[in-house]
Amino acid sequence: MVKICGIGAGYVGGPTMAVIALKCPSIEVTVVDISHSRISAWNSDHLPIYEPGLQEVVQQCRGKNLFFSTDVGKHVSDADIIFVAVNTPTKSRGLGAGKAADLTYWESAARVIAETSKSNKIIIEKSTVPVRTAEAIERILTHNSNGVSFQILSNPEFLSEGTAIEDLLNPDRVLIGGRQTPEGQKAVQALKSIYAQWVPEDKIVTTNLWSSELSKLADNAFLAQRISSINAMSALCEATGAEVSEVSHALSKNSKIGSRFLNSSVGFGGSCFQKDILNLVYIAESNGLTEVANYWKQVIQMNDYQKDRFVKRVVSSMFNTISGKKIAVLGFAFKKDTSDTRKTPAIDVCKGLMRDDASLSIYDPKVSEDQILRDLAMDSVECDHPVHLQPVISPSTMKQVRIVQDAYEATKDAHGICVLTEWDEFKTLDYQRIFFSMQKPAFVFDGRNILNAGKLREIGFIVYSIGKPLDP
Ligand code: NAD
Repeated sequence: MVKICGIGAGYVGGPTMAVIALKCPSIEVTVVDISHSRISAWNSDHLPIYEPGLQEVVQQCRGKNLFFSTDVGKHVSDADIIFVAVNTPTKSRGLGAGKAADLTYWESAARVIAETSKSNKIIIEKSTVPVRTAEAIERILTHNSNGVSFQILSNPEFLSEGTAIEDLLNPDRVLIGGRQTPEGQKAVQALKSIYAQWVPEDKIVTTNLWSSELSKLADNAFLAQRISSINAMSALCEATGAEVSEVSHALSKNSKIGSRFLNSSVGFGGSCFQKDILNLVYIAESNGLTEVANYWKQVIQMNDYQKDRFVKRVVSSMFNTISGKKIAVLGFAFKKDTSDTRKTPAIDVCKGLMRDDASLSIYDPKVSEDQILRDLAMDSVECDHPVHLQPVISPSTMKQVRIVQDAYEATKDAHGICVLTEWDEFKTLDYQRIFFSMQKPAFVFDGRNILNAGKLREIGFIVYSIGKPLDP
């Protein structure tokens, strides 16, 4: 029986390995992690992450051909193929701090592989890494192993949180990069034969190692760029009377542009877009390509501008002061159908509102109170692993924040509502009831453009939707 070990039981490693176990019943898959709490959650009924369909897949395979363990060395040693899906955040200190990828976690995984391996193995980069990381990993492995040979493949993951299982079951494409040597190509074929269990052959794209590594960074940069582009248009719309939803609809009808990633919003979030663009910027700068670096930097600057603009709009609309006013924040996750808050725009928006002394009442259907308070107490700007972060909001400031259990409680007595995540349940709330329970005038700031502004205005709300006139 072929044995696979997945190192890193996070948002990528957990679902990816679970789907391989589901589709390849003859392969034994063990997911390992240094985090005991994560592994015990994967072995329980309360999985550490929320993804539609994930619970069902895990329940179907766990204990049969899918296992979760903290014994990294043992399962690495037993495996024929090792997928490494550890975190690769932005470096928080030292050379390249704030831009370069922190490969500490990758390096320690590689050292465990080298030290414990007694047979030849295929090592697969699932994490998003800087281009030419495979070369560095090869060096660590070959200098520390005992005559064992390793083939490194790049196989970046393109799943989106919130639709991870669907994306893994029906991927647009699977990308595999390998060395152009006979051994490298043999490893590519071995990985292809796993995906071929459920992915049509024409969707499996093979390239050289460096193209595959760079393609993943390029992929995230292009997606983020589309969001920043439409958000740049949203500011122009507000200044000119155009409507961003009409502009994006018109753009989407151009088959050369298409409709995905054209929704204007309060800004993109998630653990990947910003860090991967910063990584790209760092690689460009390291190669002396200043213009290329500046080009991609602008995508992040536009995103920061969009969040800042939103906060300023809230303050200016509410008669230039939100001091002491209660603002209901609906949604904290960086997108709907996930409990992930890494780099969510809600963090910056909430902090911006708190700096102007608003008191916040926050509701998210899937994010825990602890998580929200932790996010607001940390300086989230630098990187996404909170252990290294210093609280920047004092405990007294935290009195400004209440986390509540439903949208009606959040909005009761509020002066304004900020919609920061596009959860479906926010579209069908009883806004008439909400209006009666709020202070007047009652404001709605729709940071995701999911609400029917016309109906809200009929009820009596003053409504701001991104990229639309305040008072049409
Ligand atoms: P994550 O933080 O959720 O999970 C990483 C896990 O790796 C953690 O549980 C951590 O404890 C574990 N880990 C770290 N070092 C380890 C080691 N030496 N041995 C064993 N376990 C170790 O991260 P994630 O969101 O799953 O992302 C993982 C990688 O995938 C990143 O490079 C990310 O850029 C990339 N990626 C993420 C997404 C996404 O949507 N989250 C999508 C595509 C690619």
